[in-house]
Amino acid sequence: MSRLSEISTIVKNQAERCGFDACGIAKADYLSDRENMLKEWLDKGYNASMNYMKNHFEMRLNPQLLVENAKSVICLLTSYNSDIAQNAAAPKIARYAHGNDYHTIIRKKLSDFLALLQKNIYQINGRGFVDSAPILEREWAVRAGLGWYGKSSAFISPAFGSFVFLSELIVDIEMEYDKPLTVNFCGACNRCIANCPNAAIVEPYVLNAQKCISYQTIENKDEINIATHGWLFGCDRCLQVCPYNKRATICRHKEFQPASAILNMSFDEWENIDEDDFKTIFANSPLMRAGYNKIKQNMKNIKR
Ligand code: SF4
Ligand code: SF4
Repeated sequence: MSRLSEISTIVKNQAERCGFDACGIAKADYLSDRENMLKEWLDKGYNASMNYMKNHFEMRLNPQLLVENAKSVICLLTSYNSDIAQNAAAPKIARYAHGNDYHTIIRKKLSDFLALLQKNIYQINGRGFVDSAPILEREWAVRAGLGWYGKSSAFISPAFGSFVFLSELIVDIEMEYDKPLTVNFCGACNRCIANCPNAAIVEPYVLNAQKCISYQTIENKDEINIATHGWLFGCDRCLQVCPYNKRATICRHKEFQPASAILNMSFDEWENIDEDDFKTIFANSPLMRAGYNKIKQNMKNIKR
């Protein structure tokens, strides 16, 4: 076994020990093949009001601007897939928000992971990312051989589907790199496109955020100007219909198990919840990122 291959094995073993469901490693190259696609997407205004997508354009493509002397991107998947459904009469909440806020939990795991690597590998330095910096997370996961871009534009893992949190550790040493999958397993399927209630997937792999319920119910700070089809926070419709999610492994992480309030609150309870109760019940939930006022505003768009 070569030294680089030995390092990759240590990394993957320690990733498993830290509780990540899958780990792949990509070379920290400049993402030149995404440059035009990203530019075109921004030029068409498909980022809606998410101006942060425009900011740090170079940084999104160049890992060297995120971590000095970056050599490798270690990509990690954490499943949040669940087969426990919400009360059917309640406003719908995207599955990623059924459990605790992943930012806090995965940030801690990344920091433990880096500490373990520093014990096991001579002189490794780096920085962890979880939906927290200008970084093309799906692209790195694809390059690290963990899955492919679905036509919905979501990332899909063959084993875990799309109900996964992506995170990365960019580090300053070389390793043996994984190869991207050579096949896009979407094939002739078009279910995500056909089932999007607002035609937000304007062509395969291209999402117009302006039309997307997920954007409107989480990111949009202004009045919502589309139908939200019963979704209160996020939208999973394109993921729910994807055949790879129907057969995906169920999440084993207790911190991402659905909270009883999310599963059981009735329509009336959502409609009448006051700010104090909201802050108490959802203290550790991703719903806190949107905040009470946004949730109340979203409620106005939902019909019984
Ligand atoms: S999240 Fe919902 S609205 Fe957005 S593309 Fe998927 S199905 Fe369409
Ligand atoms: S629903 Fe079909 S086309 Fe869409 S991401 Fe899944 S497999 Fe690909």
